Amino acid sequence: MAIKIRNSDHIFVLTGAGVSAESGIPTFRGQDSLWEGHRLEDVATPEAFRRDPELVWRFYSMRRSVAANCKPNAGHVALAKLEERLPGRFLLCTQNVDSLHEAAGSKEILHMHGELFESRCSDERCSKRPFRDVCLYMQKSEIPRCECGALMRPNIVWFGEMPLFMDEIIRAIEECTIFLTVGSSGVVHPAASFAQIAKRNGATSIYLGLESPSNVSAFDQVVLGPSGELLPKFVSST
Ligand code: NAD
Ligand code: ZN
Repeated sequence: MAIKIRNSDHIFVLTGAGVSAESGIPTFRGQDSLWEGHRLEDVATPEAFRRDPELVWRFYSMRRSVAANCKPNAGHVALAKLEERLPGRFLLCTQNVDSLHEAAGSKEILHMHGELFESRCSDERCSKRPFRDVCLYMQKSEIPRCECGALMRPNIVWFGEMPLFMDEIIRAIEECTIFLTVGSSGVVHPAASFAQIAKRNGATSIYLGLESPSNVSAFDQVVLGPSGELLPKFVSST
């Protein structure tokens, strides 16, 4: 892994569930992707929320309580240090809904799949903004309602919904000269196609993670290993 960041370089970093794995937040793929006998796809969709909001809220409450006890690892810290060195030339886009990048000190960060510790109104037409929410809702009667009368939902991009900040993300990918992906299987679109877009625009693309990703052909360099070890090495080598 040899990359030197020049004064003219712009870095775009995409992180996936792998970057938080060493902090104790489980990834979905690669292990049995079931929760209380439900397929994850069946508790993380708008249809699931309409059918059984209590079940969906119990799932996200469980994820909130796990994430609340997790600390950033050396990989999160290394990315925050890299950002400090590159003011105005660094953007972090994460598929993760936890807040471990922020806890490590990252500032320029876009949560394309939403945030676990935020809730929002389930009525798309409502003007109420997403808000910070660390509460656990285990029963239907506990789920808060918006002033408009609709149930509150987790501020998470579910299967079948549009990821957030896409215009900003695509613009930054097209402008970057170094594109780094960490701990993302390359299965979930549109994030899986970002590396291809970066490469098409002439960026050097690098993958760091435990296993070779599905979109491996889009990377110029692939380094396999845990991100808590690889990221500090990568950052100190640049
Ligand atoms: P993913 O598609 O990003 O895949 C996880 C990848 O991380 C795999 O390729 C795996 O090899 C790699 N990995 C595992 N441990 C690692 C380590 N210690 N170091 C480096 N790489 C490691 O994520 P997914 O689990 O398939 O989930 C898909 C979507 O679900 C995500 O994009 C996200 O929106 C959501 N999710 C979020 C979180 C979170 O917020 N922390 C956790 C699980 C799932
Ligand atoms: Zn509302």
